[in-house]
Amino acid sequence: MIKKEYNPFETAQKQFDKAADLLELNTTTRELLRNPAREFNFIIPVRMDDGSKKIFRGFRVQHNDARGPAKGGIRFHPLETIDTVRALAMWMTWKTAVADLPLGGGKGGVICDPHKLSSSEQEQLCRGWVQQVVKNVGPYTDVPAPDVMTSAQHMLWMLDEYEKISGERRPGFITGKPVGMGGSLGRKEATGYGVMITVREALKELNIMPENTRASFQGFGNVSQFAIELFQQMGGTATCVSCWDQDDNQSYSFKKKTGLDLQELRSITDAFGGINKTKAKDLGYEVLPGDAWLEQDVEILIPAALENQIHDENVNSISNHVKIIAEGANGPTTPAADYIIKEKNIFLIPDLLANAGGVTCSYFEQVQSNMNYYWEKEEVLGKLDVKMTSAFIAVSNFAKKNKLYMRDAANVIAVDRVAQACKDRGWI
Ligand code: NAD
Repeated sequence: MIKKEYNPFETAQKQFDKAADLLELNTTTRELLRNPAREFNFIIPVRMDDGSKKIFRGFRVQHNDARGPAKGGIRFHPLETIDTVRALAMWMTWKTAVADLPLGGGKGGVICDPHKLSSSEQEQLCRGWVQQVVKNVGPYTDVPAPDVMTSAQHMLWMLDEYEKISGERRPGFITGKPVGMGGSLGRKEATGYGVMITVREALKELNIMPENTRASFQGFGNVSQFAIELFQQMGGTATCVSCWDQDDNQSYSFKKKTGLDLQELRSITDAFGGINKTKAKDLGYEVLPGDAWLEQDVEILIPAALENQIHDENVNSISNHVKIIAEGANGPTTPAADYIIKEKNIFLIPDLLANAGGVTCSYFEQVQSNMNYYWEKEEVLGKLDVKMTSAFIAVSNFAKKNKLYMRDAANVIAVDRVAQACKDRGWI
């Protein structure tokens, strides 16, 4: 369950303050980086299928673009808030910086539940979102992408609207497009694979063979499914996965001690990452409460659903077997829980590093779209591995050298790079 009392933007600002203290940043630099550069908060009217009009609220936040065009996804979620979007935009700035991409950070959202909207209603939402921000986004300004509950189809509707308004073909406006329509091969695998590439590197540092590890995952969407895929290819055993159940309005965990069968689970999962309970039981899975994924005797935990999922009330149920937590989701750990994870001496791979594979491949897509020349999948995934491995090694070496927790090391590297770019531009 989402712990509502935690404001993700306050969490992001606290994390920033800590990095700013470690870097001894001056007041002007802190003022510049602590808050978004620009925010757009608007309405999107939609003609519903029953003929009525409904007003939705949309957001776009550009946190910082000193290192390059703002970059970040758009989420469709009923619990979306401006503070969630602000936090995610700030984390994108740090993520692009930690992955050393020539990009800044942005994020968008619409308060809606796409499960309850028809295809035509969703298309209007996408086109309406673009109409509201068209003057302030673009291939060299701010490049959106998919995120929770948005898909390649949503991106294509948005691109089409953008191109209609601009009167030109500009596939570099948005990423996460369908392959064949300007999308990059390897994009759907990129975030999950990226998570596992960082886990692979962490296992090397801990001298643990992947074949001797088990992992448990929160979420069974895009990130989690491909993280499981690469983990299984590495020889690991994925034993538990959780997801949100639309009908019951709560989450469940699905466990098979001998290892999940990814293909089988995918075949009983809907487009939003919800696993069918009845069919899972028939296939021999134990169906457990939502938090059970966190309580498993495994070596690796991968939160890959939403923010604030590991908090002070459940962090102590993490098993002593756990050696690595890799944050597939953005901001899945509250500051209080983070403190306990650090005390437990668990090797934490922070979100801005662990899930940077998504934005790294989005950047590859942007480059390919702007050139209108597309690479083979092997080339994309090879480049992804190089980028993720070098980002991991940079953060890990910095952490060891300065005796820092991995999250602090990643934040310090990122904030330092962005502050330097702002300074070089003469902003501070
Ligand atoms: P998705 O919509 O494909 O899947 C989300 C999954 O989480 C679904 O299985 C859903 O059932 C599950 N879920 C939702 N609420 C839950 C809850 N309370 N408990 C348990 N499960 C729950 O989303 P995704 O693209 O896989 O993204 C997951 C996370 O990763 C988000 O935090 C997102 O911001 C982050 N992320 C995604 C990408 C990307 O490329 N997709 C990149 C970077 C970060």
